[in-house]
Amino acid sequence: MTVLVLGGTAEARALAALCVDAHVDVLSSLAGRVARPRLPVGNVRIGGFGGAVGLRDFLVTQGIETVIDATHPFAEQISANAVAACAEAGARLLRLERAGWSAAPGAEEWHWVADHAEAARTTAALGARPFLTVGRQAMAEFVGPLASTSALVRMVDEPEIVLPESWTLLLSRGPYHLDGELDLIREHRADVLVTKDSGGAFTWPKMEAAGRLGVPIVIVRRTSGAPGVETVSDPAAAFAWLG
Ligand code: NAP
Repeated sequence: MTVLVLGGTAEARALAALCVDAHVDVLSSLAGRVARPRLPVGNVRIGGFGGAVGLRDFLVTQGIETVIDATHPFAEQISANAVAACAEAGARLLRLERAGWSAAPGAEEWHWVADHAEAARTTAALGARPFLTVGRQAMAEFVGPLASTSALVRMVDEPEIVLPESWTLLLSRGPYHLDGELDLIREHRADVLVTKDSGGAFTWPKMEAAGRLGVPIVIVRRTSGAPGVETVSDPAAAFAWLG
């Protein structure tokens, strides 16, 4: 039995490690978005499948009957593709999705928004020195509304679009620590933090730092996952589901 893990997250890497340790044949799949991805242990393939149809064909030709979708909570397209492809290929599917931050301390005071466009508008109304931590792919939604601000924008790889001259680009990859996040927010004199509800511990320190410094937080809500797909929130539970 080969287990296909749709990855790109720390949880996916942890699950792959559990599988390798237990001699379960695991194949991790990465989109190939970042230049130097953190690779899981075990077999890895990189690149898209060609939509839901391509993924279905991949499952059928490789004889894969078990899929764990451990992609990022905001990677909505691949998750939808997994649902459709598994249904057509007759594969069983589990969603491994880390818990969000909606129940975290201070969450009721944050500015919860539906999408990046609303996040950009809300941010423009709140501050002139935003700290953007929403990822490279969302940048296009922010450059217009925040063109006249002095934004600090942090991402893993160079953005694909030209950023306003008044913005400062910081290329880095987490995990981050509270002291560093406090320093960064203070040094930039950030007056609003913008994030997605990614959840997990790796990027949580910026939320704590903003809370301590009284910096408002704009946060993009998650969409609800596919109905009917069994979901767990930690790698050990996903491994146990394999049986
Ligand atoms: P997405 O919008 O849901 O997917 C776009 C396309 O990328 C998919 O249709 C698929 O191409 C390909 N793809 C995505 N994940 C893949 C995977 N694990 N293996 C093979 N192909 C994959 O995804 P995204 O938001 O661009 O995220 C891309 C990857 O980065 C995901 O694997 C995710 O776990 C990781 N990631 C995303 C975020 C985020 O904020 N979105 C943050 C951290 C990590 P085809 O249609 O050609 O199959």
